Amino acid sequence: MDTTKQRYINKLRQPYGLAMHVVPMYFEREILNKTCSFFYFLEQNKHELFHAYINYAPCCMCNDSFEDSSISRSVSLRRKQFHILYESTGQQNLDHEKRNEKYRIKPHCLCKYVPTQVKLIDLDITMLCAIINSCCIPTPGNAIEFNAIRDVRNFMNHIGESTDISKSTFEEKWKILETCSLSLAEVTGEVHRHMIHTRFQDLKRANRY
Ligand SMILES: [Zn+2]
Ligand SMILES: [Zn+2]
Repeated sequence: MDTTKQRYINKLRQPYGLAMHVVPMYFEREILNKTCSFFYFLEQNKHELFHAYINYAPCCMCNDSFEDSSISRSVSLRRKQFHILYESTGQQNLDHEKRNEKYRIKPHCLCKYVPTQVKLIDLDITMLCAIINSCCIPTPGNAIEFNAIRDVRNFMNHIGESTDISKSTFEEKWKILETCSLSLAEVTGEVHRHMIHTRFQDLKRANRY
């Protein structure tokens, strides 16, 4: 990778680090809403998150209308990611795994899955996006910011050898990280927004940007 490109990526990692300070805090305050632990959240949203991983077959928590269910059909969690959130140490109910004539694929038993002890702070932006996109959380707007931050992270991590980064692209990505961080921080509180704003200003000065 040429040095200009590397320099831009290295600079972008700083506002990305700030964004990844804001995102889990936003999740904890606004989604868990100080009323539940992440463990409890995973327990409550097991059905949605299971179908973010297995979207082609019903499970024992599905009602009879799996075909018409409002469960999102796009797969947003890979097997490995699902198993960061859940482990299969619960009690499986063999009756739940019986073939149901209505479906070609037998229903899965969710009873065996219990939340792991994973902490919110351990999850990367891809996982957090998958969770927020799957669980239909009624906080409009947040999915846009989460997904935009994830897209910048993907840009930094997967930029091809032959692709250059122009100054305007660098500035555009920085702006996305800054705007999204400030808008999420603002929801959590004016003091938090002010702190994040100050840290972005410091970063810009340090980078002479
Ligand atoms: Zn189900
Ligand atoms: Zn079951």
